[in-house]
Amino acid sequence: MTTGTVIGGGPNGLAAAITLARAGVETTLLEAGDTVGGGLRSFEAIVPGLVHDHCAAIHPMAVGSPFLATIDLERRGLRWRSADIECVHPLDDGSAGVLRRSVADTAAGLGADGAAWRALFERPVRNFDKIGPSMLGPLLRVPRHPLALAGFGAPTPLPAAALARAFRTPQARGLWGGVAAHTFRPLHEPMSSAIGKGMLTAGHRFGWQVAEGGSGAIAAALLAEFEDLGGRVETGARVTAANLPSADVTLFDLDPHQVATILGARLPARVRRAFTRFRYGPGAFKVDFAVEGGVPWTNPDARRSSTVHLGGDFSEIAASERTIAAGRMPDRPFVLVGQQYLADPSRSVGDVHPVWSYAHVPNGFAGDAAKAIIAQIERFAPGFRERIVGTAVCSTTEMSRYNANFMGGDINTGSKDPLQLVFGPRITLQPYDLGVPGMYICSAATPPGPAAHGMCGFHAASRALAKL
Ligand SMILES: Cc1cc2nc3c(=O)[nH]c(=O)nc-3n(C[C@H](O)[C@H](O)[C@H](O)COP(=O)(O)OP(=O)(O)OC[C@H]3O[C@@H](n4cnc5c(N)ncnc54)[C@H](O)[C@@H]3O)c2cc1C
Repeated sequence: MTTGTVIGGGPNGLAAAITLARAGVETTLLEAGDTVGGGLRSFEAIVPGLVHDHCAAIHPMAVGSPFLATIDLERRGLRWRSADIECVHPLDDGSAGVLRRSVADTAAGLGADGAAWRALFERPVRNFDKIGPSMLGPLLRVPRHPLALAGFGAPTPLPAAALARAFRTPQARGLWGGVAAHTFRPLHEPMSSAIGKGMLTAGHRFGWQVAEGGSGAIAAALLAEFEDLGGRVETGARVTAANLPSADVTLFDLDPHQVATILGARLPARVRRAFTRFRYGPGAFKVDFAVEGGVPWTNPDARRSSTVHLGGDFSEIAASERTIAAGRMPDRPFVLVGQQYLADPSRSVGDVHPVWSYAHVPNGFAGDAAKAIIAQIERFAPGFRERIVGTAVCSTTEMSRYNANFMGGDINTGSKDPLQLVFGPRITLQPYDLGVPGMYICSAATPPGPAAHGMCGFHAASRALAKL
């Protein structure tokens, strides 16, 4: 019987393991942590019963994932939940850019910029079911619906700053800038609009939904699927060069630097060179809060939204992203706030609610960004500080210790500059191949990149099976 090993149990490792097991490969998944999940874990730390997401929180890409659609997630206990509003970007004057599920409702709220928002998103959202599999695949494959994909893809080589010029109001420009900033790159650089465009398109189609009970429920559903297929899991099993097991097929859900360390001279020189030069992006400094009575946002829509982006107007976000990319910490970093409990009240305890947040900081930032995060929240929600019952802080160092794929706090598993976004760790049409027979990389360092969609794992395992 053909044997397979998957190293790392993040969403991509789990997707790879399921894909191999479905094809009849006797598959073992080795995970360094105590549980599988990688970026899909939840925890209770501050107040017993209060559920926080350790990493991924909001799931337009998972809900829209063609791989996850092959699993009966409901049967596996997973339920998606939505808040009234998907995302709010408040400004200093109390107004906000508001992302709603429907393009028409969002456009209606954006006044003078409604027509521009519709022009950008209406058609791609309508065509999402055709273009989704191409968007969430290796970007250089021949698409099945080239015209529909071109309609989505034409603006994506542009810098986010160029697309911002399509909008006149600070609300629409801020809303766009906050979502575009998920790319963790200066917003004037080429292709810095691609990730934001994808998240907004998927968000309009599927919502920025959360998993009931915490994102760990997604990992639990994937694990149950894998184990039902006869897959074997070992946790507490950190793979190194010294203990790499042999198998017919091996998939690494790891960042390229770790793959290079584990495989060393077994990698062809060109692959090793590319992997050891793989570029990290800026970091995330995370603070989870227990908050009595929720966050007292000035803007009423922010009180009903699962996600709130804090960074002021577009030019302020662009300046702070440029600063962190240059390795300096801005006074007012871009901050993301998750209020998943508004979609999933089961995460709260009475009137104490879990509030998730992280700031964009330079890679490996050694300082404390907690004060800056609280100050940004206070800026748009005066009185927040008095409502804090407790905090749990995860610095960039702790983030890398928690998961070696998030080196220096780089939660995207590598800078998503144009070359790494399109090709992955090296310039090739086969982004999952390692040049060692039977071995492949399948982490978010490869196309289609970060988020909890599992598509990197699915495509890498499909490639491995095709080569078998
Ligand atoms: C703070 C934060 C917020 C995020 N927010 C979102 C969000 O809202 N929505 C979204 O879709 N995505 C979000 N993400 C990104 C998302 O979590 C990742 O893109 C995704 O988890 C990547 O999946 P992966 O399978 O490639 O790797 P990972 O999830 O990183 O999993 C890799 C696994 O490999 C294990 N491992 C590492 N080294 C070894 C080794 N040597 N041996 C064995 N096992 C090893 C790790 O313990 C880990 O379990 C966020 C991430 C973070 C950190």
